Order: sequence, then structure tokens, then C-alpha cells
Amino acid sequence: MSAELDELYQSIILDHNRRPRNYRVMDDASAHADGQNPLCGDQLTIWLKVDGGRISDVSFQGSGCAISKASASLMTAAIKGKTREEADALFTKFHGVVTGAHPEDAESMGSLKALGGVSRFPLRVKCASLAWHAMHAALAQHADATPPAPVSTE
Ligand code: ZN
Repeated sequence: MSAELDELYQSIILDHNRRPRNYRVMDDASAHADGQNPLCGDQLTIWLKVDGGRISDVSFQGSGCAISKASASLMTAAIKGKTREEADALFTKFHGVVTGAHPEDAESMGSLKALGGVSRFPLRVKCASLAWHAMHAALAQHADATPPAPVSTE
């Protein structure tokens, strides 16, 4: 990675840390989950609203390092409007990029690729993926709360 790109990616992370997107409590969320990364002291809560299988709104609040906060902010911007399946697929892809398992996927991830650099810092991988794990947990919770489809009596 060139020094210029490194700088660009750092500026994306610093910007999202300073002015996190979707940073608020959501009173009418359909699911929420807490995430904690004791190794770094990061903690956050993710709120989700799912309508007809689509994430119509997502927000977060918490405290922690710049990476965890920027990653949460970028995550909320990336999954808003996506279906549950799309959000889970993005989570898998993101995880592959930050752990260094699939660095080639970074190019198709928009601003999220700014976090690809954490793959060089194993302790930071947990900071970057914290919000995603919480989002994943909140989505799973939502699945449990969905009433089963009506059974046909024909
Ligand atoms: Zn952290």
C-alpha cells in the first residue's frame, strides 16, 4: 500500500472517529446488542430496525478507541438499507479482509477498505470487528423474535 493511500485511509478513520455517523440511541429499534472488547476497553451498543427483511435503520453508541468507533460508524453507513442476507454477507467479507484471510476483497468494499490495514495488527482486528459482531448478534436476535410463517391448512 502506498503512503498516500495509507494517509487517505487514516483520514477516513479519523473522520468517522471524530464525527461518527448514526451515533444515537434508537428508541424504537426492533433489536439491539452490546459488544465488548476487554483487550482494548471498547464497548458499544448497536440498534437495528428491520422492516420486511430489510435493515431500515441502524445506529450505535459507545466508547473506545478510534478504530472501534470508526468501524462502527462505517458499518452503520454500509448496512443501512441492506437486507439481512446482504448485511451478513458483508460481515463475512469484512471479516475476511480485516483478518487478512481475503485481502483481495478489500477493493470492492468502498470506504470500509480503509480498515483493511488492521490485518497487520492482530490486536486491532478485534477493535475493527466489534461493531460487526454486535450487529450480527442483533440480527440473529431479530430472527428469533420473528413469528413463524403461518402454516397452510390446505
Ligand atoms: Zn479498540
